[in-house]
Amino acid sequence: YEVIVAIDGESALEIAHEEDVDLILLDIMMPGMDGYEVCRRLKENERMRDIPVIFITANTSEESIEKAYDLGGNDYVTKPFKPKELLARVNRELEMQKLIRDLKASKEELKILAATDPLTKLYNRRYFSKISEDIFNIAKRKKSHLSLIMIDIDKFKKINDTYGHQTGDEVIMALAKIMIEQKRDSDIACRYGGEEFVILLPETDIDGSEVVAEKIRTKVEKNILKTDGGNEVAFTVSVGVADVDPEKEKNIEKALGRADEALYRAKEKGRNRVCR
Ligand code: GH3
Ligand code: MG
Ligand code: MG
Repeated sequence: YEVIVAIDGESALEIAHEEDVDLILLDIMMPGMDGYEVCRRLKENERMRDIPVIFITANTSEESIEKAYDLGGNDYVTKPFKPKELLARVNRELEMQKLIRDLKASKEELKILAATDPLTKLYNRRYFSKISEDIFNIAKRKKSHLSLIMIDIDKFKKINDTYGHQTGDEVIMALAKIMIEQKRDSDIACRYGGEEFVILLPETDIDGSEVVAEKIRTKVEKNILKTDGGNEVAFTVSVGVADVDPEKEKNIEKALGRADEALYRAKEKGRNRVCR
């Protein structure tokens, strides 16, 4: 390993702050700041708190060992130390750190996988239900507007029947892309069913939602999808918009019902349109 030597606690903290340090061997009895204090300050700092600390000291009292662990130390080695043993402990600690990093990364990935639809990378219905509750409660507290857009692809069965399921999936992906481009970052877009989508728009009333819905509808209408199968496919969507009323309602369920009814009207009136 590459070793950087610090002459006292102060300079150890400076080095840990400036360099990319993987592990710290820390004495306890030092001139000026003692090892406990150094450890305490390391653990206070967001960037440095995860650097593992192995105390290495002549102080063998039980209290001292207990305190070292309480302060967040990872291991405790007493002087005179055996070099091979110390190296083995360092190796083990670094392996542990790698395991922890991998675990955290897997956890993040799992979280994303559990919340999103694999085809479109939009949120799935389950996560949408969860996050929409939070957004509803915020709107209620802030007395702000909240509205919904519900989108269904027109005559999608025909697209599947004409070009095949694979092309159907490409159409779904193309629509998701247009939705993502047209919505704001704070709007929550979800794949609600097979070829049905919902967008929840915080701080937006039904007029605002209608504008976004209309933009999505026209983008879709103008879009010609060049499929992997070599076809050029045009498609349209029908859209329902609805206001959520956080003061009178318990959640967004009723508004979802209204958006669904509006979507039905859009289909009835001949599709490729937005209704409220
Ligand atoms: P309408 O204009 O009334 O909406 O007609 P439609 O044919 O789109 O009718 P509907 O919305 O009921 O059709 C849904 C169809 O979408 C049924 C199913 O075969 C197809 N579908 C659902 N999920 C997927 C999917 O993930 N991929 C593909 N390729 N097709 C899907
Ligand atoms: Mg449908
Ligand atoms: Mg449909």
